[in-house]
Amino acid sequence: MLIHNIEVYRIEVPLHKPFRTALRTVDACHDIVVKVQCDDGIFGLGSAAPTPAITGESQESMIRAIKDFIAPSLMGLDLSHRVLIQDLIKSSLPGNSSAKAAIDMAIYDAWCKLHKISLPAALGGDCRKLTTDITICLDTPETMLTDTLEAISKGFESFKLKVGGALEEDLERISKVVLGTDNKFEYRVDANQAWSVDDSILICAKLADLGFNIPFVEQPVKSRDFEGLKKVSKSSPLRILADESCFSYRDALTLAQMDACDLFNVKLMKTGGIDEALRIIDLATEYGKECMISSMLESKLGITCAAAIACARPSINYLDLDASHMQRIDPFIGGVNISGPNIEFPNGFGHGISDVANLLTT
Ligand SMILES: [Mg+2]
Repeated sequence: MLIHNIEVYRIEVPLHKPFRTALRTVDACHDIVVKVQCDDGIFGLGSAAPTPAITGESQESMIRAIKDFIAPSLMGLDLSHRVLIQDLIKSSLPGNSSAKAAIDMAIYDAWCKLHKISLPAALGGDCRKLTTDITICLDTPETMLTDTLEAISKGFESFKLKVGGALEEDLERISKVVLGTDNKFEYRVDANQAWSVDDSILICAKLADLGFNIPFVEQPVKSRDFEGLKKVSKSSPLRILADESCFSYRDALTLAQMDACDLFNVKLMKTGGIDEALRIIDLATEYGKECMISSMLESKLGITCAAAIACARPSINYLDLDASHMQRIDPFIGGVNISGPNIEFPNGFGHGISDVANLLTT
């Protein structure tokens, strides 16, 4: 069970409509797929999505990070030494969290197959049914309401409203959606760093006064402005979630010790791997914080691995794993079953994705 080959591929998955947030607009997923092959025929698959505006990584940079730095250090290693392998992935080069996450998923997948267990079981949980929200892209108030009503018709009851314009415009967007749906659902608000500290405090107070069912406001201020985030959090009647501020366990520990937020948004593309994500979730429990597990605009493979973490940690209160709904095709064979807001992890070994169609060589 020695690692004897690591291949990296590209995939292109078109979207139903452009994905728009305060940080970026994209019209297709340009992900990578990693295949770790062992000498006894066992293989593992991983994937990653480039999100330059958040992680600083492009499709090309992820390919180079794996081919030039990570893969060479893993050749010939015994797959059963999973923790050693994952330590080498972490120390292979600084940053590059999404590239590291892709190869970490592949190692976990292969290791689970070796031990004939599912990924949720390997993480200490069990396959179970999950429920996700759906993202409503940044747009005019009218279009955001139309998109929300369409999602309601598909069974969704929780929405992540992407905002990030002028304060009055964002209030109008949120009000249009909430009042247009009788405030009967759950409306998560994500500003993607777009507001100033003062505007964040103002808008959170107004939203609270309006009595909208908003469980939290996500990343109102710039990612590295921990003091600003804390100021908003202390002033806001609504709870504040850290997303772009929280990549690593170290970020989460700093934020928790500062008491700068109420929740963490955990994404594999930021943590660089499954174990680091689990560490953040367990830290949150220790500090009385809550967690959402989420994804970038990434493939079903990434969604499946994030779902495995949710299966393994019932302390996760919120799921934001809707990226598959935005994609026009699904080239992945196996993995989670997705129907509207419902996600079900299948029984089987590893993450359950056995193959990927239309892989492009690199
Ligand atoms: Mg976010």
